Amino acid sequence: MVLLLRKFCRGGASAALTLPLLFCASQPTFGWGRRGHELVNTAAIRNLPEPLLSYFLVHRDYLVAHATDPDLLAREDAEEQPHHYTEVEAYDRYPFVRFKKQFVEKRPAPTRTELRHGDSIWQIDLYARQLTTAFRRRRWSEVDHDAVFLAHYACDLTQPLHTVLNYDGQLTGQAGIHARFESELVNALADHWMLHPQPALAEADVRARIFKEYLASYQNRVLIFAADHIAVRGRSYADSHYREEFENLLGLMARKRLESAAAFVSSLWYTAWVNAGKPDLQGWRSGEQVSHAGSRVSDLRHRADVARPASI
Ligand SMILES: [Zn+2]
Repeated sequence: MVLLLRKFCRGGASAALTLPLLFCASQPTFGWGRRGHELVNTAAIRNLPEPLLSYFLVHRDYLVAHATDPDLLAREDAEEQPHHYTEVEAYDRYPFVRFKKQFVEKRPAPTRTELRHGDSIWQIDLYARQLTTAFRRRRWSEVDHDAVFLAHYACDLTQPLHTVLNYDGQLTGQAGIHARFESELVNALADHWMLHPQPALAEADVRARIFKEYLASYQNRVLIFAADHIAVRGRSYADSHYREEFENLLGLMARKRLESAAAFVSSLWYTAWVNAGKPDLQGWRSGEQVSHAGSRVSDLRHRADVARPASI
């Protein structure tokens, strides 16, 4: 959900880097980002098998309340921003066979070109491995932190507009589509949704699962752009009939995307625990105290909570 930042930060012009901070300081952008991420983390926790379910239920408040911490970080740190999207179409052609071979089989670090177009899929892989290590070492505060970041980047990947160059309709005369889809539509419909994700799975190949989710997300982009065209025909974006039709056309797809996100997130959490050797999760009660005070994101969250208007 770092769209507003991306508008200004691409190309790396140093002068531009000050703009998003000023802009975002006066424009809270939690919207769908916060609602969607919280929905997904909540559903992902419920989707876990035991004993992970019991452990994550105890930690649910933290995992849900901090679901958008990476977006807060992105507002303060330009280097964080590309971690929230990946645009493979910038350097390969659909269905991205060459890229899949590189990412899944050869597993190199991202190139400079790839980094320029976002590295969320590498971040997901990185945090999946970090979470495995945290589980193995029974460092419970790190488990919570890494689970939050892993969930956030994975959830962002399931939003189709986080996978394309035309992320805000700027190339097709549909400017603002990003917020209309992920903020306005989801906020309007989410109260009526109960997510029913596929069961969490232990993934034999995390990178293969990441690529599969990327492809599924990317394939849904066409529906969003087409629905927007249809809904606005003969109207303006301010027309309530536009919103009605946009929601009718895309509501089900948006819910399915969030269900995919919950299945993806819970599978990544579960896989990390399995790959760590299924450590005893009761250990956190008698071992390391779970304390998030003083962490970078906890400080950011506190400041955001203080600054957030009551209506958000
Ligand atoms: Zn994000």
